[in-house]
This record gives sequence, structure tokens and C-alpha cells, in this order.
Amino acid sequence: MASYTDTQIEAMKKDDLRYFLHPTSSIVDMESWGGPKIIEEGCGIRLKSIEGKTIIDCGAGLWLNNVGLGRTELAEAAKQQMEKLSYFQTFNGYSHPLVIETAKKVAGMIPMDNPRIFFTSGGSESNDTAYKLARMYWYLQGKPNKHHIIARTKAYHGVSYGAVSATSLPGFWDGFRPLVPAFHHIEHPHCYFCPWGKEQDQCNLECAEALEEKIIELGKENVAAFTAEPIIGTGGAIVPPDGYYQRIHEICDKYDVLFIADEVITGFGRTGKMFGMLHYGVQADIMMMAKGITSGYIPMGAVGISERVFTPIKSHGIFMHGYTYSGHPVACAVALKNIEIVERENLAENARVVGEQLRSRIRDLSLPCIGEVRGIGLINGVQLVQDDAARIKFGPEIGFAKRVSAIAWENGLALRPLMDDGLQLSPALVITETDVIELVDKLGRSIKQAYDEFLGNQP
Ligand code: PMP
Repeated sequence: MASYTDTQIEAMKKDDLRYFLHPTSSIVDMESWGGPKIIEEGCGIRLKSIEGKTIIDCGAGLWLNNVGLGRTELAEAAKQQMEKLSYFQTFNGYSHPLVIETAKKVAGMIPMDNPRIFFTSGGSESNDTAYKLARMYWYLQGKPNKHHIIARTKAYHGVSYGAVSATSLPGFWDGFRPLVPAFHHIEHPHCYFCPWGKEQDQCNLECAEALEEKIIELGKENVAAFTAEPIIGTGGAIVPPDGYYQRIHEICDKYDVLFIADEVITGFGRTGKMFGMLHYGVQADIMMMAKGITSGYIPMGAVGISERVFTPIKSHGIFMHGYTYSGHPVACAVALKNIEIVERENLAENARVVGEQLRSRIRDLSLPCIGEVRGIGLINGVQLVQDDAARIKFGPEIGFAKRVSAIAWENGLALRPLMDDGLQLSPALVITETDVIELVDKLGRSIKQAYDEFLGNQP
């Protein structure tokens, strides 16, 4: 049952177009639809649109909802903390019990020895904090020139000025230059579309060697850090080849460059392990978190800081950086309860098992336009291609993934097209095999319909 009349819905859509500037949304598209798609409620992996339609959220919001929607335990934790201490600062030497408990809990979970935890309100802030820590680390060693930061193409690290300077996806720099100086990019690893034209078993990890080349080009005395998402998220849910991070880490060690892992998406169980880097046995010097730390119930981010990076800052005596909401008591209450649920319900293991079922069922659709089905745990991408054998993409003018996503919406899926005709499949970690069967059935029908239309339009 819809709770709004058609007239009310129409008025709401008009008001949205009139008053609300959406982040990263095509205004032209929204106007052509007569307004945005409005979601009113959510439970588990399902949303309810304002028209009363049930929709599977294939993306867990923006890759963030690990425990599923509508968990009353989290609402209760937030309510209790709001009533007790809704806010107090953590600047100027103040603290409160829950920020101490959350820092201790997160420090004990992340793959880092003896870390300190800094809190932020989200992923971009965590990224900016990490770059500032890296630059300050070298500054305090008397090496202020060692401030260049190397990231990768197809990286998404956020949109604040530091983070967007590390991001490298089309559109995010247009009109915003100049970016923060001294950010550089090397080619990202992606075996299916290998930029070196190699096959996975016959390559020399050129994608990792590119880091060494870039450090030599810039001069190791100038390079502060290399940053990467363990598994590329927004750039396409791309898993690196075996040995990639081990080689990256060797190169960072060889040239005395910090390794910074952006675990904003991959943290708190999404990849089938609690953190993405646990798949690769490599420890970062600085680690960014957000999203799954509260499953998006309230904004929060965090940064794990290794002993190596913290020691000179301790000697210096102050880290002159912080956000009003760093260590917000209500966010801490929600984070603690959320992490408790992730652990209690063994959601990382569910992500591992159900992720495999999801990929395998999508491969079994055997549609000619499905190329690579990639991912790990519940961070997955489906690559749509015109020709799988020759790895030929659809032209951007076709907008194939966008069309699939529009049909999928009609079929009851909120499905996000990624760049280069990828589809994002990263549902909440509470998804079951039965849900997967329904999701893949709707996905398959949507892809098939778009492909039939495409074939019908061919001369
Ligand atoms: N890093 C990664 C890997 C992300 O995926 C995102 C958000 N999608 C961010 C950073 C930025 O996070 P936020 O939008 O919370 O600033």
C-alpha cells in the first residue's frame, strides 16, 4: 500500500527538482523522468518506493549497508546515546567513553600492529586525513619534499579536494581544477582489459611494476605514499591479480614510500574477510575506513594509523587536524552496535559464501553480452560487452548498462551502472541464497531485454 496519493507524489517530485541539488546525478535524466526515484522505506536488502513497489537494493546504498536496512538495535543504540550525551567535542583534550571504546574496538580489528584511530565523518575526510598524515610524517623526518602521492586510474577516493585529486574517474575533475598539487596516477590492474595486452598467467605484473617506474620518474626522495583501494569499487569492482599487492608492498619498502589502503568500501566484512587487505597478507601504514563501520545508519569514517606513522607525530606533540564530528558520540554508539552485529551474525562469512553463489548464478545466465563476472565476497561487477571473445565494449553512445539499469528498475532492482558498462552488485551482507535467485532472475531478464533491443536496433 502506497502512503501517498499520485498527486502528492507528483508534487514531491516537482519540489525535488525545484529545491534539491543531488550529488552526482544527471539533472537531464531526472527531468526526463519527471523527477527522481523516491524511496520511502527499507528492510533487509529491500526498499519500498513511494509508489509502494518493493525493490531489491543491489548496491547496499553506496556499497555501505553491511547489516541490512531497518535494524532496530541500531536505532535503539542511537536513541540511548542521544538522550545521554548527544554531542561533545573530542578536540582540546576532551573524550567520552564510547569514542574510547570504538577506537579500542577498531584498533583491535584492523590488520595493523598497535594502531591509533582517528575519526572522521566519511570516506573523503578519511582520505584527506590519510594524505595529511603521510605528508606530515615525512615533514617531521626533515624530508618536506617527500610529499608526492601516487594513486591509480579508475580510483575513487572521494570528492573533497585532496580526495578528488587522488580519484581518477571521468568527470570528477571537470571544472574543478586546479586540483591539489603533487598527486599522480599509475595504470590500475585489470586483467580482463589488460592495458599491456597480456594474459594473467603470462604477465610480469606490469601493473605493479608501473609503481616502481613512477617512483623513479618522480625521484624516491619526493614520494610520500602510494594509495589504493584493495579492490577497486566505483571504478568497476575490479579485483587485482595474485601477487599484485605483495609486489606493490616490496616496491614501497624498497623506496621508503608509505602504503595507504583505502578500505572505505572493503572494510567490515564486505569482501568475505573483515578487511580487504587480509586477502593479500599486506599491512598498510595508514588505512581509511567509512561506510560499513556504521552500515550507513549514521555518517562516520575512521583512519587507522600505524605505530611508524604515529611515533613522530607523538614526538611532535599535536596533529593539527580534526573535524567537528570526529568521534561523534552517537556515531560511536551506532558503530559499536553495527560491528557487534557484523561479528555476531558472521556476515563476512555470509558475504564470502553468498558472493560465490551470486557470481556463479550470473555466469550461468550464459548471455553473450555478459563478459567478465568479477568480484570477491559481496563487492562484484558484471562487465557487459559487445563481444566477449574479443573483449570489445559497447560504444559509450549506446549507454548499454544504463539501459539495463532502467529496465532493472521496472523489474524491481535498484541497480547502478558503473563506467564502461559495468554493473554494481554489492548488496547488504545479510542477503540469502533465496534472495540471490530472485535477484539474478530479474537481472538476467533485464540484461536480455536490453540486449534484444540492441540487436533489434542494429542495421
Ligand atoms: N573511498 C572509497 C574507496 C569510496 O568508495 C568512497 C565513496 N564511495 C570514498 C572514499 C568517499 O567516501 P565519502 O563519499 O563518504 O566521502
